[in-house]
Amino acid sequence: METFTFYNPTRLIYGIDQTNELAAQLPKDAKILLVYGGGSIKKNGLYDKTIDQLQQAGANVTELAGIEPNPRLKTVRRGIELCKENDIEFILAVGGGSVIDATKAIAVGARYEGDIWDIITKKETATGALPFGTILTLAATGSEMNAGSVITNWDTNEKIGWGSPYSFPTFSILDPKNTVSVPRDQTVYGMVDMMSHVLEAYFNRVENTPLQDRICESILKTVIETAPKLLEDPDNLEHRGTILYCGTMALNGVTQMGARGDWGSHNIEHAVSAVSDIPHAGGLAIIFPHWLRNSIDDNPKPHVQLAVRVFDVDPEGKTDKEIAEEGIQKLSEFWTSLGAPNRLADYDIDESQVDRMAGIAAANGEFGRYAVLDKEATAKILTAAL
Ligand code: NAP
Ligand code: FE
Repeated sequence: METFTFYNPTRLIYGIDQTNELAAQLPKDAKILLVYGGGSIKKNGLYDKTIDQLQQAGANVTELAGIEPNPRLKTVRRGIELCKENDIEFILAVGGGSVIDATKAIAVGARYEGDIWDIITKKETATGALPFGTILTLAATGSEMNAGSVITNWDTNEKIGWGSPYSFPTFSILDPKNTVSVPRDQTVYGMVDMMSHVLEAYFNRVENTPLQDRICESILKTVIETAPKLLEDPDNLEHRGTILYCGTMALNGVTQMGARGDWGSHNIEHAVSAVSDIPHAGGLAIIFPHWLRNSIDDNPKPHVQLAVRVFDVDPEGKTDKEIAEEGIQKLSEFWTSLGAPNRLADYDIDESQVDRMAGIAAANGEFGRYAVLDKEATAKILTAAL
């Protein structure tokens, strides 16, 4: 295990009807920017509940609606202007990872003189942020309890992950009721995303991480067990709640204590999404199995452990490579059984785009910690995924 310092200041408020706790968490009589997406919260009633809580807290509310899935830099810039023009004191994000990620960039940008893109591209460092809280409506990214954010700049075709010590939410409300209206495809993408986060952490080069491994395996097994039950019974609050909790635990730092993960698959997916505006986890479901295959020969140990412990592959009489391949096959079959895509062709992405996507993924040179990839290795993975 490597040395680590764990820091996570987000107050997590979990449970059925905990949305009613919102007013108590908000600063009193404050100027608040309410950030949300394309309207799902208006359809499912959460908008009205939120406004009611904001009124109870005496808030003076400015709204920023229309955060896109894969949130865009231009919308973030609009949010920053709104904060500056209206002397906003606190931001409330109500939505999925996209709304929360955009809010993080707005919060940091509101306390920065220059252009937020310079912070996202790591040319400059964040100097502070407006405080913000979240009501999570989609179990997927873990953004509700981490400092990470992913923003897309369509002028330059860049989708970049960034973070700062200031971009943790002060609180996040996880009320399973708020996720019941998530449609089937987004529910599936969310489960693929959280499993991918765990797999990114699981594949590390650090020796002796028995607890981290078991934590990762527990989250994966819990999602695998719960996913079919949830898709069968999407209104079931117990299953919604289990998946909500899994998504947060998958990326709140716990799985990477003392062993930082690889994150190459996410980098490749961001390059795919920067060229074609596809759902993040749709891309991951396609790319991850090929990333896994690519690294078997180099070090099959974690592959074998994953196959045996998580996918119940019987190792008897098989080579490490065969066990690893069977595990990957089972992972792919599981995602396909949920309805996730498994080829880039499912999104009309063809060979002609491989070079460009690989170039974007490797724009800053080699990446990944478990499997160090360059442009050529990335192109091989993308070609296998066509
Ligand atoms: P999302 O992009 O936030 O939302 C996807 C869709 O689901 C939107 O159309 C949204 O509609 C809808 N939706 C959300 N909640 C709903 C509800 N309760 N009922 C009905 N529809 C609902 O999805 P996401 O997977 O959470 O976030 C994806 C983004 O996060 C990507 O940009 C990805 O790269 C990034 N990401 C971030 C992290 C991180 O740690 N920060 C990690 C992984 C990925 P509305 O817009 O109408 O609400
Ligand atoms: Fe992700």
